[in-house]
Amino acid sequence: MKKAFIGVYGCQMNISDAERMEGQLRTIGYERVAEMEGADLILLNTCCVRETAEDKVYGKIGEIKHLKRANPDLIFGITGCMAQKESDGLIKRAPHIDFVLGTNKVHELTHVVQEIERERGHIVDTQLGETELPDDVPVARGGKFSAWVPIMYGCNNFCTYCIVPYVRGRERSRLPEDVVQEVREAVAQGYKEVTLLGQNVNSYGKDHKQADFADLLKMVDEVPGIERVRFMTSHPKDLSDKVIAVIRDGEHICEHIHLPVQYGSNKLLKAMNRVYTVESYKDLVRRIRQEIPNASLTTDLIVGFPGETEEDFAEMLAFLKEIRYDSAYTFIYSKRSGTPAATMENQVDDKVKHQRLEQLMALQNEISLEINQGLQDKVLEVMVEGPSKNDADTWTGRTRTNKIVLFAHGDEQEGDFINVKITQPQTWVLKGERV
Ligand code: SAM
Ligand code: SF4
Repeated sequence: MKKAFIGVYGCQMNISDAERMEGQLRTIGYERVAEMEGADLILLNTCCVRETAEDKVYGKIGEIKHLKRANPDLIFGITGCMAQKESDGLIKRAPHIDFVLGTNKVHELTHVVQEIERERGHIVDTQLGETELPDDVPVARGGKFSAWVPIMYGCNNFCTYCIVPYVRGRERSRLPEDVVQEVREAVAQGYKEVTLLGQNVNSYGKDHKQADFADLLKMVDEVPGIERVRFMTSHPKDLSDKVIAVIRDGEHICEHIHLPVQYGSNKLLKAMNRVYTVESYKDLVRRIRQEIPNASLTTDLIVGFPGETEEDFAEMLAFLKEIRYDSAYTFIYSKRSGTPAATMENQVDDKVKHQRLEQLMALQNEISLEINQGLQDKVLEVMVEGPSKNDADTWTGRTRTNKIVLFAHGDEQEGDFINVKITQPQTWVLKGERV
């Protein structure tokens, strides 16, 4: 077998795409390896949602130059969002890159690699297609019990800060029977949990109209043998009462909704083109909590968007105190050229952005800890994931609400469902004892 190193940056969609790249590479004699040194093929599946993500990739591209010098036969390709955004500019900047494959060309990987094996030379293919990824692309899943299942590609929302719609193209939903078939196959292979992926899962099916997201969730919930169903990301503007009811009534659908608000003031939400208001968002959260009282709620937040004032930021902090998320991913606004926000006036000073991020994180950490402390002595169902990073005797797992639980390892195996009594709730993890 030849050796392929695949570096993955960014979101779950990129992890899922990389699994489909690895699946294809296996069919032409490659196995995935953990180290770049000694690899016959290096693939970087990239992200460009923030500048820091791009900087990391440029750093790696630099490192690979030395490997390529030592082994001129090494094949080096860039895929994913940066490939889409920069296209042949990447090869102009770093000629040791052999090929650049766009986000809608994942299924062309084997052809491209074989052509380079035969003829060498550079290949750039970054056309944005109108169709979704073909369903017959083989997938080499990373996890043993949790599977990523893309249900749609692209995004139509054009939030003013975001590059995703430009590099992933328009929204395209897979057919419900194809999604269900993939879930069935995953279950047959021993997978117990699936996470349905899309930039805005709540607008699933608006194109083909064969099923909406609520219908699809229900179908997946009913696949025999499935234990847990997760989904992300939910755009607040499209989360319907029908979806809330399906989550409430579903047997395997986990009570966790990742519902990025991005900001807590109407002025900024409007500038971001998020389409909902603080009031409609709060009303949505009220309906979710009324129907699914034990649901955990998480979010994404951006500080330092152009025009953000101290008053806006104070409003955001008050908003957080009111909603009380279980946890939040907090980001500093990063200017993405080509997006409307990049040319807006009143860009916020870097130092101020960092100060606000610190303040925001401190508040969210306090809230997360308080919420987790409310779980003291509660017994929760945990799906076992395996040994923790730092200690082989301490294992981790997740609750249905997607909280990480640490416990002393006994005889449980990966993929088991166990009950754990929470004895030491902390900000990021819950420590407990098996009961
Ligand atoms: N489609 C999802 C949604 O709307 O919530 C998320 C996709 S995006 C890859 C993940 C997160 O990155 C967004 O929710 C947003 O908070 C953040 N993000 C996107 N563009 C950004 C930018 N220019 N600067 C900082 N954060 C950004
Ligand atoms: Fe980006 Fe907005 Fe689309 Fe999410 S919904 S991917 S933040 S444009």
